[in-house]
Amino acid sequence: MSADSPGERRGFRAFFANALRPKKSRQVLRKGYSASTPDLRKDSLRPSTGTTITASDDVPPLPSLAPLEAHRLKYRALNAGKDTQLGENRDHTEILHAIGVGEIDPSDPYADGHIHDHRPPGEATIASLPPTLWTLISSYLNPADRASLAFTSKTLLSRLGPSPFDDLALPSNRDYRSDFLSTQDGHLPHHLLCFPCGIFHRRTQEGTEKLLPADKVNPLFNCPNLRNALLPPPRHRITHNRTLPFTFAQLTLRAHRFSPAHGIPVESLSRRWRRDGWSHHSRFLIHKNHLLMRVTSTCFADPGLPPSSQRMLLYSREDYWPYFSACAHWRDGELMNACKCALGHIPVPRETTALQGLEHRAKDVMARRIHNPNALTTLCGKCRPMRRCPECPSEYLIEVKLTEDRSDARALVFRHAIVVTRWCDLGDGRSPRLSREWAACEGLPDGEGYDSFQMLGKRSISGTFESMITDDTLPGQRIVSMNPKGKKLGEKGTGWY
Ligand SMILES: [Zn+2]
Ligand SMILES: [Zn+2]
Ligand SMILES: [Zn+2]
Repeated sequence: MSADSPGERRGFRAFFANALRPKKSRQVLRKGYSASTPDLRKDSLRPSTGTTITASDDVPPLPSLAPLEAHRLKYRALNAGKDTQLGENRDHTEILHAIGVGEIDPSDPYADGHIHDHRPPGEATIASLPPTLWTLISSYLNPADRASLAFTSKTLLSRLGPSPFDDLALPSNRDYRSDFLSTQDGHLPHHLLCFPCGIFHRRTQEGTEKLLPADKVNPLFNCPNLRNALLPPPRHRITHNRTLPFTFAQLTLRAHRFSPAHGIPVESLSRRWRRDGWSHHSRFLIHKNHLLMRVTSTCFADPGLPPSSQRMLLYSREDYWPYFSACAHWRDGELMNACKCALGHIPVPRETTALQGLEHRAKDVMARRIHNPNALTTLCGKCRPMRRCPECPSEYLIEVKLTEDRSDARALVFRHAIVVTRWCDLGDGRSPRLSREWAACEGLPDGEGYDSFQMLGKRSISGTFESMITDDTLPGQRIVSMNPKGKKLGEKGTGWY
């Protein structure tokens, strides 16, 4: 450093000299950094390790990366193999061994356990029992299981005869026929099981099947019952004019279980759409051979809505269903009350004249507080917790969020919006009857109850779903029952509207 370096100056002149020096961040590499000097680039320009670039000019050394970015890269390099939540080392070899052949769950019907079955053939033992005994055993089974038993081996078929299959052909056993045929899904990639018919039809849009709005005719095969109003194809209502036909649950889960040729990728089901002031976003994932769905529905809401306007916002005038996605049990319990409660928390802006406004502002300044009409909304103990339907695998979360209103392109306007998210498990896609989760979401008949708290336990669908997307576990969210009192009045109840 020379004698007139900034460190040695004193007084007024030195102050100005320092003040007028260009900021470090403004300094650019003017010399010594060009493609024509490869030796410099090789030796001193090493941005990935966070070292500095030494230029030959009198420009002080400049870090190649901002300090925060350098720290971030260093942290990431240090923690490359670590779990983001637990901080434990992720051993990929161990993970691969854990999911290897040694750990096949014998109760999992889709695991390839049969490859490792080394038991001796049991044909002789089966043949040693008299046919009358086999007929007696089969009489305890339902028609679908009886046919499955006869289908197992030639010996069993010869003992039971053709009668199990004759029974399946009866029109009254159509559901059982579908149950039996659904076990053959893996062998028929070019066909799809039609439940109204109980027949495998040839796929007519093989590999290009697209999920369309409910008012579009979208046959995936030539079916004689296509327009039969008495035998509608099974479908799950998502929102108005949006449904998930069971055929799409079949296609995605078949593609996941057997081969991509058996169906379509699950990502192709996700959609975004707008209707009646609400915007919706659906997303689907497969977890443990179950199809999970998340539907996020958003609608701008004004503060201080009277009850009638809250109803206008939440319910459709067409069929008095909520605009957001809801399971068949939404009328019972606290779901709609919690939505109305959340709407009530949106802060009301001050109604003031110009003079009062000045007065309020002066008071705010005196008290050193800032009045923000866009203040974040805090929900209460009633509407904040996640709600789980006790009768089906559905979870709901109600939030009030500040959202950009893009209806006016010229101005940047943020408004409060109510956001209702529903996560649900739509089952394993075998059949609308055999898949308990699908049947429960559609509303089971009385007596065939599905207890979601017992079935799901502490594991939440929302937690599973979000952790699959972000690779991180969500902070624990309190989940309470959507219907804590367990009253089931449906449409006859008084609280739902
Ligand atoms: Zn059909
Ligand atoms: Zn509340
Ligand atoms: Zn439900």
